[in-house]
Amino acid sequence: MAKPVTERVMADDRYIVWLDIDNTLYTRSSRIAELMIERIHAYFLSMGFTDDDAHELHSKYYTQYGLALRGLMKHHNIDALDFDKKCDGSLPLEDILKPDPKVRKLIEDIDRSKARVWALTNAYSTHANRVLRVLNLSDLIEEIFYCDYSSPDFSCKPEPSFYAQALSTAGVTDPSKCLFVDDNLNNVRAAKSCGWGHCVLYSEREEDHSMSEHPKVEGVDAVIGNLQELRELWKQVFQVVP
Ligand SMILES: [Mg+2]
Repeated sequence: MAKPVTERVMADDRYIVWLDIDNTLYTRSSRIAELMIERIHAYFLSMGFTDDDAHELHSKYYTQYGLALRGLMKHHNIDALDFDKKCDGSLPLEDILKPDPKVRKLIEDIDRSKARVWALTNAYSTHANRVLRVLNLSDLIEEIFYCDYSSPDFSCKPEPSFYAQALSTAGVTDPSKCLFVDDNLNNVRAAKSCGWGHCVLYSEREEDHSMSEHPKVEGVDAVIGNLQELRELWKQVFQVVP
């Protein structure tokens, strides 16, 4: 059972695979992202903003802080846990998301003698746990490093302090041992800037695209269109299939 990490764990010199959750462990075509946007927009409206202002502020905060909620916390006096309940908490995840056996097998095939597997998410622990449970991945993720919405000045990706806290919590002394995949370019670039070993942008494309067809993106180590490509990129942590 994946659990939100609450205390620093012992130093460990294995590799550590950091998986983003939303729009990485499930496909963007599930349209969860759109449902999230609708709910966040409704939240802005409930604060008294006009439709236009709500769109503008949402986009501004997301771009500036990586998370609309981070902007709301900085500039408005809102209850982050109430926001979480009304936005992520009200998503009908059980009706939309289905476990993907290929994603499960991918994570199962990571050799635990070589690497730990953690989640690194901008969601709160409630949503992160719920998604992993619905996707039938909870037992494969050792710990979830999440945004602590209950703390008044929490940090999130892509802030360097968030990555530093993740390393410290995981007892990682050598950031080059971190292998990271996320669907958000800014998040991947930020990890790379923090010296993380191999940082991959997941950008969904047709499954038959080969690696050579992926665009080169500055500030990231690789762009993939299918999570299975990680088997090749992170050979050092996958079990050798006979
Ligand atoms: Mg994501």
